[in-house]
Amino acid sequence: MKTKILLKEAEMPTHWYNVVADMPNPPTPPLGPDGQPVGPDALAAIFPNAIIEQEMSAERWIPIPEEVREALRLWRPSPLYRANRLEQALGTPAKIYFKNEAVSPAGSHKPNTAVAQAYYNKMEGIKRLTTETGAGQWGCSLALAGQLFDLEVEVYMVKVSYGQKPYRRSMMQTWGAKVFASPTDRTNAGRQILTAHPDSDGSLGIAISEAVELAAGRDDTNYALGSVLNHVLLHQTIIGEEAKKQLELVGDYPDMIFAPCGGGSNFGGIAFPFFADKAAGKAVQLVAVEPTSCPTLTKGVYAYDFGDAIGLTPLLKMYTLGHDFMPPGIHAGGLRYHGDSALVSQLHNEGLVDAWAVPQLETFEAGVLFAKTQGIVPAPESCHAIAAVIREAKRCTESGETKTLLFNLSGHGHFDMSSYDRYFAGELEDFDYPEAAIKESLAHLPKVG
Ligand SMILES: *Cc1c(COP(=O)(O)O)cnc(C)c1O
Repeated sequence: MKTKILLKEAEMPTHWYNVVADMPNPPTPPLGPDGQPVGPDALAAIFPNAIIEQEMSAERWIPIPEEVREALRLWRPSPLYRANRLEQALGTPAKIYFKNEAVSPAGSHKPNTAVAQAYYNKMEGIKRLTTETGAGQWGCSLALAGQLFDLEVEVYMVKVSYGQKPYRRSMMQTWGAKVFASPTDRTNAGRQILTAHPDSDGSLGIAISEAVELAAGRDDTNYALGSVLNHVLLHQTIIGEEAKKQLELVGDYPDMIFAPCGGGSNFGGIAFPFFADKAAGKAVQLVAVEPTSCPTLTKGVYAYDFGDAIGLTPLLKMYTLGHDFMPPGIHAGGLRYHGDSALVSQLHNEGLVDAWAVPQLETFEAGVLFAKTQGIVPAPESCHAIAAVIREAKRCTESGETKTLLFNLSGHGHFDMSSYDRYFAGELEDFDYPEAAIKESLAHLPKVG
């Protein structure tokens, strides 16, 4: 039985897969403040044309430029593992495979899109990229990509994380990025929040508002987003394409695919290439796994909402908990975004993508078992997928089913050990975000039409 299934560099995919080509219905368009679909012009202030084209494309295959493939070869193709030791510990008849995206220099799947975005901006003469980051994974990824393609990078880092993740900050600085604790007094959005809440811990939504405002205000500056948008999910499909080839090498095909779901990019990345088969009639279940404390797909509503806290972005039709949703401080597992990818949301609404919510103690318990059996200490986000896989593997033990399960190990947890410490110290609790608080956020949804 193989432990690692590896592809040669020459076998790395040459095209990204665009799920839009196989969706039963066309994707819902983003809307502007007037309620009309946003045209390419409105996005041109913050994105390069090549990215805008990809955002709206319905082409099934989009070529990966050779310069991007060269950057990706620094860590790709990533290994697919058979989790033999986890299977043995669980005593399950299920086969468990995982794709290891922790092998990138930044430690997660996020550089897959960061290098593509940096490349297209560089090609269109942009000098500087702004972005937001929560725990620091995305900021690190863009800092790395900016360095590889010779662009300046400014990162607005959610203030609470800036304090809690000092090594992520210094990693970004090592790759040459400037890092600011958001909310800052550098933007109108930041100043507005600081006036209302001087002690604000910040949020991803606020940091997005700051980064977008700066990019919109300067011609040589664009914005880069690490998740949610169609082009980001597109760039991540290299994960699922590689996984498919790797499983073919051992003659297997997954019955179920699991990935943690924050904005939906690593989920779309591993799941969408298999959706192509599902659309053609193949039985494969795609499961997005989220925390019970930020239950976007399982408890949110499918509605148009802003992508940020202030309301600067176009309206996206997605599952949302409301753009002013604030996840509780007790939650240490990431995946805190109020909304979700429009593509993932639409497929979930049509019953083609499943969503499970797992409480955080179960996620850390799963992560510790994974570390003890497979050796890799997973990112708390990845622990959500591991917890879901373990649930399914245990179900297989009871039913005797020999299912093939695949999950995405979206990253390692080397910079998240303080969250593990809180778990070991018994400081973390399960938290089901109260229905009443969700209703309150949902009451502030923008009116459309
Ligand atoms: C950012 C991140 C996620 C969640 O983001 P998605 O866009 O939903 O993929 C999951 N895992 C890790 C390790 C991350 O850094």
